[in-house]
Amino acid sequence: MDKVCAVFGGSRGIGRAVAQLMARKGYRLAVIARNLEGAKAAAGDLGGDHLAFSCDVAKEHDVQNTFEELEKHLGRVNFLVNAAGINRDGLLVRTKTEDMVSQLHTNLLGSMLTCKAAMRTMIQQQGGSIVNVGHRREMLLHKRSIVGLKGNSGQSVYSASKGGLVGFSRALAKEVARKKIRVNVVAPGFVHTDMTKDLKEEHLKKNIPLGRFGETIEVAHAVVFLLESPYITGHVLVVDGGLQLIL
Ligand code: NDP
Repeated sequence: MDKVCAVFGGSRGIGRAVAQLMARKGYRLAVIARNLEGAKAAAGDLGGDHLAFSCDVAKEHDVQNTFEELEKHLGRVNFLVNAAGINRDGLLVRTKTEDMVSQLHTNLLGSMLTCKAAMRTMIQQQGGSIVNVGHRREMLLHKRSIVGLKGNSGQSVYSASKGGLVGFSRALAKEVARKKIRVNVVAPGFVHTDMTKDLKEEHLKKNIPLGRFGETIEVAHAVVFLLESPYITGHVLVVDGGLQLIL
């Protein structure tokens, strides 16, 4: 059976690095993002017969159409990576409702919709593997660490979306384990991508035990490790340069 993987958010950043690594490992890939040109450029860089699709994960109709189309052209999806995400950081009192909704819809509802769409095929074929990209801090919240309890000023809505993603992924992992479908989360710290380009890196990296931001390929290795680990499910793998050791 072909190894077919849908990578949502595959046009840039972490998702793009995942797609590049998986292409080298022989997977057939669907590179998916809202901007079709970006997705096409990323798929084109992979070489081979990978395909690009335009889809807004926050829209159920878009997600369903994308799965129908990609299965028509690539075959049944047995691997799914949810790396589409946005942040609109700011204090809650200054955050517009539409920015709250777009973060929750993209980061949380979007992963629910893609998992639901993938599930039909994965249940039929009695197997599949999903990795959702969360966030380091919400992993700590999940473990009730002091950092989680302290929260993160300016990221209340983003944190809610990513905290929800961990709960969703673990519950789904339990729900579908008997069908031989695995669901895991990779929770990165600070990684060099468009999302972090405006952060004060010189200041922030002083707090990271490994002394630097991560690179997308370093997160991609963790994603692919979980995708391919047949006896791991419901796990949250933190990739943060050791931040959780000190915060
Ligand atoms: P980037 O901004 O570099 O890339 C985001 C990707 O998601 C793009 O491909 C973008 O394409 C796509 N995307 C955004 N919104 C949608 C949507 N509604 N539907 C479909 N695709 C969408 O982000 P990163 O690579 O940095 O982040 C990837 C994931 O990792 C996110 O979930 C983020 O929250 C998480 N993360 C990132 C960290 C970091 O330090 N970079 C740290 C912790 C977690 P397009 O705009 O064309 O749709």
